[in-house]
Amino acid sequence: MNTTAIELVEAGRFMHSKGWVPATSGNFSAKLPDENIAITTSGVHKGKMTIDDIMLISSDGIPVDVSSNGNKKPSAETLLHVQIYRQFKDARSVLHPHSIYATLLSKTKKDKIILQDYELLKAFPGIDTHACSVVVPVFKNNQNIEELAEVVGKYFNKGIPVFGYLIEGHGFYAWGKSVDDCLKQVEAFEFLFQCEYMSLKS
Ligand SMILES: [Zn+2]
Repeated sequence: MNTTAIELVEAGRFMHSKGWVPATSGNFSAKLPDENIAITTSGVHKGKMTIDDIMLISSDGIPVDVSSNGNKKPSAETLLHVQIYRQFKDARSVLHPHSIYATLLSKTKKDKIILQDYELLKAFPGIDTHACSVVVPVFKNNQNIEELAEVVGKYFNKGIPVFGYLIEGHGFYAWGKSVDDCLKQVEAFEFLFQCEYMSLKS
């Protein structure tokens, strides 16, 4: 758990330095070899986290090892992490930033963003050319996470290739086969969202 917790803490510092997780927003997780999930606790500042701000939950999202977890609560959006791990068997990390360009782009009243003809699309698994499209669905924000997960689940079940999704006025979710791999995709999404938003305005 400790090595994974350190990776999440470092991801938090990096993302906060980029302005992608302002205040106490965002949440991160990583799957351990025993299938339990290390996840950020609720309400923690991602730029100032320590490994004590990471807790362990089961693959169903239930806190494990209550004695060492004390009164910690997992992220309010835990269900969305659990859902991604269930859906994508290769996913070993989920990162959820609340960044400026993701937020602005999610508020442009589109139900999906289509990223195409960008060299950086090659950051996503299985893509080896700019000449393709990556569809990023945009879901309505909802404080009821179960309802939000239901909408996301319906989209996943359509079987359309998906590497991440936006939530309107909120941020986005991305996943990868390690914390580093996920961070690479978050960085790619950030660049692409910024390009898309700026080209809308030009
Ligand atoms: Zn959020």
